[in-house]
Amino acid sequence: MVPSDDPVLHQVAKRISKPAAVADLAADLFVTMREEGGIGLAAPQVGRSVRLFVTVADGPQAFVNPEIASRSRERLSWEEGCLSLPRLLGDVERPKRVTIRGTSIEGQPIEINADDLLARVLQHELDHLDGILFPDRMKDLRKLRTISEEEWQSRFTKSDDLKNTEM
Ligand SMILES: [Zn+2]
Repeated sequence: MVPSDDPVLHQVAKRISKPAAVADLAADLFVTMREEGGIGLAAPQVGRSVRLFVTVADGPQAFVNPEIASRSRERLSWEEGCLSLPRLLGDVERPKRVTIRGTSIEGQPIEINADDLLARVLQHELDHLDGILFPDRMKDLRKLRTISEEEWQSRFTKSDDLKNTEM
């Protein structure tokens, strides 16, 4: 994980021409995500500015060069946290449902219709690939709140149990 002030977190990540070339990086992302106790992790969060993220929100999945194919008009507000911004939480409004297209590590096309938590995680991770962090999406930054280290840690279960939503 890079520190929260690393400029890589604000860069637009590069497209990946050969998905197989990032297989090791994807494996590393899964390991780091599990160690950190999050449900999603994007390559820039570990200092690699390429368009790849992984999630376990709906089973383990890696997305190469993901993009949003469609989004619902209906929006939902949800409190988000980010592994790259420890102890910060804030409500972010996003489309409730999205269709995401991308490529698997094996080079196969992926298309996923996601709603609620999965849609939230996919949009949050995709934002990381465009250098966007969740506070950038908040309507009112005064509502960004800082919680104690104890409370932050208590949100992580360090398991596959999806109690926390840090991404
Ligand atoms: Zn994040």
